[in-house]
Amino acid sequence: MPALIRKYSEYLSVTDATPVVTLGEGDTPLLPAPALSRQVGAEVYLKVEGCNPTGSFKDRGMTMAVSKALESGGGAVICASTGNTAASAAAYAARAGQDCLVLLPAGKVAMGKLAQAVLCGAKVVAIKGNFDQALEIVRLLSKQYPVAMVNSLNPYRIEGQTTGAFEIVDQLGASPTYQAMPVGNAGNISAYWAGYQRYHDAGRMKRMPKMLGFQAAGAAPLVLGEPVSDPETIASAIRIGNPAGWRTAIEARDQSGGLIEMVTDEEIVAAYRDLGRQEGVFCEPASAAGVAGMLRLGRQGYFNPGDTIVCILTGHGLKDPETALSVSPEPLALPADSAQVATHFGLER
Ligand SMILES: *Cc1c(COP(=O)(O)O)cnc(C)c1O
Repeated sequence: MPALIRKYSEYLSVTDATPVVTLGEGDTPLLPAPALSRQVGAEVYLKVEGCNPTGSFKDRGMTMAVSKALESGGGAVICASTGNTAASAAAYAARAGQDCLVLLPAGKVAMGKLAQAVLCGAKVVAIKGNFDQALEIVRLLSKQYPVAMVNSLNPYRIEGQTTGAFEIVDQLGASPTYQAMPVGNAGNISAYWAGYQRYHDAGRMKRMPKMLGFQAAGAAPLVLGEPVSDPETIASAIRIGNPAGWRTAIEARDQSGGLIEMVTDEEIVAAYRDLGRQEGVFCEPASAAGVAGMLRLGRQGYFNPGDTIVCILTGHGLKDPETALSVSPEPLALPADSAQVATHFGLER
């Protein structure tokens, strides 16, 4: 398998001289979702980005950002993160032999993501503040010091993430009618839209999909039309009050004829559990926001029977086991006795 950014190099700023830093990212499953399809009355697919090497779509952007940082001389990379950017940056920087500096909002990062970043040797500090404040510090430091910012303000991150759109078209054999996804810092929705435009211009697909973005109700600046100073939601990956990709996300919405709406934490948790129980897919809470939004539109009769909808499941459920356990019943403790276990499960001969 060639590295993701070699496979799609004709669409990316990659030359034969680029030292490609890869961990085997991309080529993630596009999984049909029969239960969700029945519920919304259209053909639903799940793009399972949790199958990337560090368990989120951030790896598509990070392979580009770290490869280009290495090409231009190396040195340290730096990022602010709600968790997944840190996990990805730490892994790709380690692979490249670069230092990785990470700023996290203190006490607000899912356990699995923090574990990944520290194990891969990132230098992590917890900022007493939120993600938006951490990002502001990273922007300043990357201007004042020779460190490469690998947040989605880095154009190579966005470029790498366009490969998600290429893959969907290659896997479906056409573009979907709709794409549903969570929106936090709004880099990914911008990247997907750029990717579809690029593939369309190259004659690889005919019809542009409509982009359906969903923010959490407690962190919905794009829906409210103004920054949110204290963003709050169970979906920590989209707990962002002032998205860096604001303008391009609105463009993606308007140029595609799509929408950006908000979903409540209750809707997110319901979709999160449904994905596990009905489709056997364990994603992280933020990823379920896109599915929650799609389900609501489905109930409103938004979709038609011939439509195809791709939901981007942005990150793996194992990143945030605490949330999974907090919304699930605790296992009953029983003595090691087969009769009692059989009775508990209601087994009959
Ligand atoms: C980063 C992230 C998002 C949000 O993506 P943006 O590009 O910031 O909008 C959503 N879900 C997961 C799991 C993420 O890691």
